[in-house]
Amino acid sequence: MTTRAEIAVLGGGLLGRLTALALRRQGRQVALYDAAGPAGEGAAAFVAAGMITPMAEAAVADNDIVAMGFDSLARWPQLLATLTRPVFYQHKGTVVVWHRQEQAEAHQFVAMVRQHSLTGQKTDSMQRLDAAGLAAHAPSLADRFSEGLYLPDEGQVDNRQVLAALADTLAAEGVTCHWQYPVDDTALPPAGLHIDCRGLGAKARWPGLRGVRGEVLRLYAPDVQLGRMVRLLHPRYSLYLVPRANGRVVMGATTLESEDMSPMSVRSALEMLSAAYAVHPGFAEARIEEMSTQCRPALPDNNPAIRVQLQTGQTVIAANGLYRHGFLLAPVVADELAALVRQLDNEPDAQLAFARQHQQTAWPALYGSHLQREAA
Ligand SMILES: Cc1cc2nc3c(=O)[nH]c(=O)nc-3n(C[C@H](O)[C@H](O)[C@H](O)COP(=O)(O)OP(=O)(O)OC[C@H]3O[C@@H](n4cnc5c(N)ncnc54)[C@H](O)[C@@H]3O)c2cc1C
Repeated sequence: MTTRAEIAVLGGGLLGRLTALALRRQGRQVALYDAAGPAGEGAAAFVAAGMITPMAEAAVADNDIVAMGFDSLARWPQLLATLTRPVFYQHKGTVVVWHRQEQAEAHQFVAMVRQHSLTGQKTDSMQRLDAAGLAAHAPSLADRFSEGLYLPDEGQVDNRQVLAALADTLAAEGVTCHWQYPVDDTALPPAGLHIDCRGLGAKARWPGLRGVRGEVLRLYAPDVQLGRMVRLLHPRYSLYLVPRANGRVVMGATTLESEDMSPMSVRSALEMLSAAYAVHPGFAEARIEEMSTQCRPALPDNNPAIRVQLQTGQTVIAANGLYRHGFLLAPVVADELAALVRQLDNEPDAQLAFARQHQQTAWPALYGSHLQREAA
């Protein structure tokens, strides 16, 4: 049994926590409900690598995703500075490397990233590295690779630290957090407005939502001094190495069209570990501390979306489909949700009309309105 909150946020993974915080800081009375605990162990965000990489994602993602990613990258340090606990965060960019036989991959990567700078994105800060440049930006890779790329505007955050710090901050700022509370669609918790951020847990409510399996290794690799994120381009898989504090490295990740959450396959482990060993032989003596699997919540176009639903007579704003871009996009999406709540507040009679018009609002349209508000 819970008391009626003004706003109930359903799902306290990455997006739910950030949204609850944004609404609370807007002066709202907020309750958060999550099926798992404050550590975030039920969330895709718990397994994720925590990369905020708008430049590298430009090789595969739409222009809007890239624009939102740069926007989020600027917001992360400001947001982290307001949390109750310190969180490991680094904005030192990414070095991209490839083996000599994968030149074609590199050409394609450069072309895709450059294409976004034609539309005004900051991806033109990408730099080509020769042997000397590589030695300067990634000294430990210089004897294995003779060229690479440097993507300066990329960051990373310790995903687990940020989930824990957000849980702590929410409690400190007066959000009522209901952990271990799986929300049942037929009996929503009492609230004036519901915001559904349940990721893949909202599948029954959002046709087309699917899980995309990803596997990640966490290593203790004190002999590997990377300093910044490293990506290896490869035609069959992509490998990233994300250095963390105290000799830790997060290594990922597979992208498999499957909702299977069973443990990592031998094939995935062999491919990722062999690729990492080829990048740096120091991985031979690294210790595998964890192998984990989760599914990214994705919509058919792999872009996020917000929509307003009428569910058992109640208005539910739902946001989902952050796919492989949760850390890249969530601060912007959370602020956009908070802005939408303000908009519905100012025009309460328009709520139902809004819901009917925007059964599924494409994300770029909302983000366009966000950009206009920022500019105003
Ligand atoms: C292997 C892997 C690596 C990734 N790496 C990155 C990366 O480096 N950078 C990046 O930007 N993104 C990355 N992602 C993507 C990122 O993790 C997701 O986009 C992000 O977590 C989505 O956020 P979310 O809040 O929508 O969903 P989630 O983080 O999955 O949170 C959903 C929450 O809803 C809760 N829930 C579910 N059902 C219910 C219910 N019935 N009632 C109550 N609560 C419920 C869950 O417990 C969970 O806490 C990665 C993902 C994976 C799997």
